[in-house]
Amino acid sequence: MYKLLIDKMKTKYNNPIDYYIMINNEWCSVNNLIGKSISISWENIVICSCGRKMKKFYRQNFCYDCFWNSPEASPSIFKPELCTAHLNIEERNLEWEKKFQLQPHIVYLSISSGLKVGVTRKNSLVSRWIDQGAVEGIAFAETPNRYLAGKIEVFLKNYVSDRTSWIKMLKGDVTRVDLIIKKNELSSYLNPELKKYLLKNSSINNINFPVKKFPEKVKSIVLDKNNQFKLKLIGIKGQYLIFDNNKVFNVRRHKGYLVDFSIT
Ligand SMILES: [Zn+2]
Repeated sequence: MYKLLIDKMKTKYNNPIDYYIMINNEWCSVNNLIGKSISISWENIVICSCGRKMKKFYRQNFCYDCFWNSPEASPSIFKPELCTAHLNIEERNLEWEKKFQLQPHIVYLSISSGLKVGVTRKNSLVSRWIDQGAVEGIAFAETPNRYLAGKIEVFLKNYVSDRTSWIKMLKGDVTRVDLIIKKNELSSYLNPELKKYLLKNSSINNINFPVKKFPEKVKSIVLDKNNQFKLKLIGIKGQYLIFDNNKVFNVRRHKGYLVDFSIT
């Protein structure tokens, strides 16, 4: 049995995707656990990224202080169009925000449950697609900062959703469209001010996840409601572990939970 502080799984773009978690200071392949039983039990201890230990988080894996004061929980994290670092205006911590926002960003189209639009830093594009469980993705535009990418995304949301149905994604119930055709169609709607950021020759990336069998229904395990389980792992998609009996576990949702973890 190991003590494990749950964090987002690390991924590597292979066919299929490779997933890793840190156990005892060593990266351990999660793909190798497929077919085995995993047990997790949680004793009401969570640890915020600031180091504070408590019984439960205030909101969204943050303690009270971090939720209201940390730049990692600021409104522009969820709405890039609210970014202001390019104007030298501080939201919560200008130095942090400049580093985070003033770097190349990509507006992308991907297919997770269906077509969606999103924004991410250029250096995390493929890992973003993997984390969302997207089976295909294409870069749409590249901007010098997060604000402009957000502006393009807001415009594209008139035509394309920015949401994923995680249930459909996990069931492998995916509505595919031709991303090249969609990209060309959406490009034609952009005004010249935004059009100059369009990427002309981007290609489709296909993503294949290590899933033996997709669940027919999806029942989510939440440790706050059900603090221990032992189930056989049958696949990994996005940031979800898929178990037999149609059970799924959202790893990212449990970031900061301190658990006992064992493999049998
Ligand atoms: Zn905190």
